Amino acid sequence: MREIKKFFFRTYGCQMNELDSEIMVGMLEKRGLTCTDDEEEADLLIFNTCSIRDLAERKVMGKLGQLGRSPNRRQIIGVTGCMAMAKKESLFRKLPHVNFVIGTNNISDLGEVLDEVLSTGRQTIRVDKQFEENLDYLIAKRDDPVKAFVSISRGCDKFCTYCVVPYTRGQEVSRAPEAIYEECLKLAGQGYKEITLLGQNVNSYGKDHPEWGILFHDLLAKLEPISGIERIRFMTSHPVDITLDLMQAIRDLKKVCEFVHFPLQAGSSRILRKMNRCYTLESYLEKVEQLRSLVPNVALGTDIIVGFPTETEEEFQATYNVFEQIRYSVAFLFAYSARKGTPAFRWKDDVPEEVKQERLQRLLALYARTSEEDRQSLLGSEVEVLVEKPNRDSNLLKGRTSCWKNVLFPGDHSLVGTLVRVKVDGYNHQTLLGKISEKEPLAILT
Ligand code: SF4
Repeated sequence: MREIKKFFFRTYGCQMNELDSEIMVGMLEKRGLTCTDDEEEADLLIFNTCSIRDLAERKVMGKLGQLGRSPNRRQIIGVTGCMAMAKKESLFRKLPHVNFVIGTNNISDLGEVLDEVLSTGRQTIRVDKQFEENLDYLIAKRDDPVKAFVSISRGCDKFCTYCVVPYTRGQEVSRAPEAIYEECLKLAGQGYKEITLLGQNVNSYGKDHPEWGILFHDLLAKLEPISGIERIRFMTSHPVDITLDLMQAIRDLKKVCEFVHFPLQAGSSRILRKMNRCYTLESYLEKVEQLRSLVPNVALGTDIIVGFPTETEEEFQATYNVFEQIRYSVAFLFAYSARKGTPAFRWKDDVPEEVKQERLQRLLALYARTSEEDRQSLLGSEVEVLVEKPNRDSNLLKGRTSCWKNVLFPGDHSLVGTLVRVKVDGYNHQTLLGKISEKEPLAILT
């Protein structure tokens, strides 16, 4: 059997993919393999892919195609993630040099697939599971010493008409609360200070298991007392499932960060209906108002798609106006691209590309302006920062506020993993700049 010693791993896409990659890296290291950043010296190359946008898919296909044209290539190549799930066997036809394909719910088969490829030399595929029952989350190899992702559910049942996730990640399945609690306890014991609870729609956590009697806000309350964990974040949310109970939990639980990803997608109720988002603009705005009245300092994030089929200039303008009204702190803005396998793929993609791009640029300019005004308003104020790491390109330390703002400031490396107060005295592109306040650190968390 051919021997492999070193592997190279590249991740595309969302945090869920990042966590899946950490798990696969952990599995490979447990087999005695070593991770390398150098593709050339690796015996195995794995690409954990994303197919949420056309661009993400084209990037991976370009990279894989390039590897196929390389005359001296000797490495085994594996494709995992959403693109593997969407394209399945057809990947082998398009890219005959790919050795194995593993879907999003077959991650635990990685070792077996690798053995099969090494012993038989045959192309191998595993994309059959509906969900991962026995995935070992504790094996994940995390590089960040302060923050960790924790999966609380997989898949999505919402079926937005433009989105491939329900087809690539399957139905929504919540993970047992005891398993989540145990993992968080272990992470606290290993010195992690911040956990981010991950799911395609964390707000609907537990609805598939009414017998547990535990919904998302209950889960937050269960994790709050874990000693050592100082911050709890969650990603991502569907506005429909953001309940009053959850808003009250954000207000009442000290460790739960005051940041909510509240993806609008579009500012027109007609487009929202066409997207199958299950809320109107009015009901969305009501929830935002309710949340802000309960948690006045809450920062909101959003995803927005411009140029969805049939979107008119007036409907785009409505999106623009809502953005200006809400002033999101974090925004992921995209021009619509049709994804094969979704209902919207069958519709005429009738907004011309140049119109999509022009709308996107207008929204990006608005985002740049509101973000700058936001940063300017913080000048002179004091923010609480969890110190994450020394900054790569300078002598500064890097951290984030509870509201997800990046902050850079001078300080000793021993402060990594502690909460400090920083007085904001400047900013650059997306980052606040400042100095540690004269007062004592807020807490020594080590
Ligand atoms: S909620 Fe909609 S956009 Fe989000 S993952 Fe589910 S189907 Fe996709």
